[in-house]
Amino acid sequence: MLNLIFFGAPGAGKGTQAKKVCEKFNLIHLSTGDILRAKIADKTEMGILAKSYMDKGELVPDDVILKMVENVIKSHPKSNGFIFDGFPRTIPQAEAFDIMLANLNMALSDVIHLKVDKDELIERLKKRAELENRKDDSNISIIENRIVQYIEKTAPVKEYYSNQGKLRKVEGIGDVDEIFEKVVEAIS
Ligand code: AMP
Repeated sequence: MLNLIFFGAPGAGKGTQAKKVCEKFNLIHLSTGDILRAKIADKTEMGILAKSYMDKGELVPDDVILKMVENVIKSHPKSNGFIFDGFPRTIPQAEAFDIMLANLNMALSDVIHLKVDKDELIERLKKRAELENRKDDSNISIIENRIVQYIEKTAPVKEYYSNQGKLRKVEGIGDVDEIFEKVVEAIS
């Protein structure tokens, strides 16, 4: 089984690269942001709760995210593995995820960190707002809040995995196919 985390700030290109790597290795793409948006579209109770955080650029509570991730993993018992895209986003999520993986007899292979500087991220998020009509990318103060949340709550997760010897840094600027090659090389 190949289990990877795609780590990086909003707009770093995690989703784009995760889709390509999933295709190459026949993995399940588990994007917590995509699952939450689907729940919002279906107007489920969880979707309505999540929307109140997402529209402000805040993180959705850890317990909601963890239950959701566990359910998706359990619904694919015969998979070749997963790419976790946009998860874990806090230290408590990372700690609980380690316990969840151990209980499910699964192991994490690598954490791919896509690195992009802040100015480039803001430009990409503004463009995405126009293309995908995402409310959380639609206004500069929400975009900035997403980046603040990343710096304060998510960036420390890098060190957590670096201490486990699992962090692989990949420069996320340039041509999508070139970045893809570097991502594939980084997988051990
Ligand atoms: P994304 O599509 O990954 O950028 O996620 C969009 C939004 O969904 C984020 O700004 C958060 O509000 C929420 N979200 C997605 N994944 C998580 C997570 N692992 N923990 C908390 N909130 C999340």
